[in-house]
Amino acid sequence: MFGVNLSALPPVEVADVAGSIRLHRRELDLVAPVVASHGRHESRRILLVELHTNDHVTGWGECGAPDDAGYTGETADAAAAFLERIVPTALAGRRTLSAGMVRTLIAAADADAPSRHPMAIATLETAVLDAQLRSAGTAFESLFGTPAKRAALAGATLANAPAVEGTDPVEFIVAGALAAVSQGYSRLKLKIGPGLRATDTIRELRAILDSDVILLGDANGSYATDDVAHLASLGELGLDIVEQPFAPHDTAAHQQLVATGSIRVALDEGVRNATDALDALVNHECTDITLKPARFGYLDCVEVLNKVAEHGAGAWIGGMFDTGVARWANIRLASHPAVTLPSDIGASDRYWAHDLTEPVIADAGLVKVPGNRHAGLSGIPVGA
Ligand SMILES: [Mg+2]
Repeated sequence: MFGVNLSALPPVEVADVAGSIRLHRRELDLVAPVVASHGRHESRRILLVELHTNDHVTGWGECGAPDDAGYTGETADAAAAFLERIVPTALAGRRTLSAGMVRTLIAAADADAPSRHPMAIATLETAVLDAQLRSAGTAFESLFGTPAKRAALAGATLANAPAVEGTDPVEFIVAGALAAVSQGYSRLKLKIGPGLRATDTIRELRAILDSDVILLGDANGSYATDDVAHLASLGELGLDIVEQPFAPHDTAAHQQLVATGSIRVALDEGVRNATDALDALVNHECTDITLKPARFGYLDCVEVLNKVAEHGAGAWIGGMFDTGVARWANIRLASHPAVTLPSDIGASDRYWAHDLTEPVIADAGLVKVPGNRHAGLSGIPVGA
């Protein structure tokens, strides 16, 4: 009963799948450099997958893999090289294709691919799903099997201070937080980690923010096992959620932190797919689920969301440095009723001077969902 409702979604027909798929690389400048514990980003090299069908429909997918390997090891360049190699082999001669087949066909050609290239595979799967939905005149939200929300809650991600003399990192984040709250965002995500003055920052933020503003610290696995008490103390200071505090697969440390009851815990790098995310919840390694469609694919995300309420867990949709191609898809996913926390679907102008698609606009922290009258999943690049 929890399956994704795929009954109204026939496969797309193509003259030759391999010949109908095109990869695009674009370079897009970020409005401000983003400093994460795994690197500093001034622009992003975007990888898009485009699929043309016999009925002249186009489907789009955007790869979430970053330019450097620090996140999970998969880079945008490696994802592009992998797709260039695997598509002609794995999809040769096919005349029909559905999103549900993509993973199986690729794994049959390269058994290691699902573990090495999850984001490349998710990108192709998304392009196929988008084409199937557009071809059938169906909106992604109709697959939920439950009514979607008309507006989705967006969280803001705060930039860390650039390493420039005279810039106080705590003041820089506090200024970013005040600007985001004045725009109506009710969840603020900041990068935390050893050396990033998390205690001072959380204390300062809590002194000025309303108590109903959710503070989320993303540590990208940078804390050590003996930092459990420190992270619990951040919870007591008012950090509501910590994302991926410890190294992926450091199960014991995550369980210890959950057991303190001082802070909510979500995993990111530590879950490889949607099944892992649910297992982590059952094993008390986390209290909430970050769903990353860039890694899991959209169909798996819906499967998990259809089960999350049974576990009493909160969920939100995690983004990468998404352009509107992926961001609009994430907005549709964030309209699932089981998404209870604000998602990484903030306005385009927080990230890009010129987005690739019609820009995402947030009003008082809410983003209007395209909805059932608008077929498809992904945002469409302007001029495509
Ligand atoms: Mg993260």
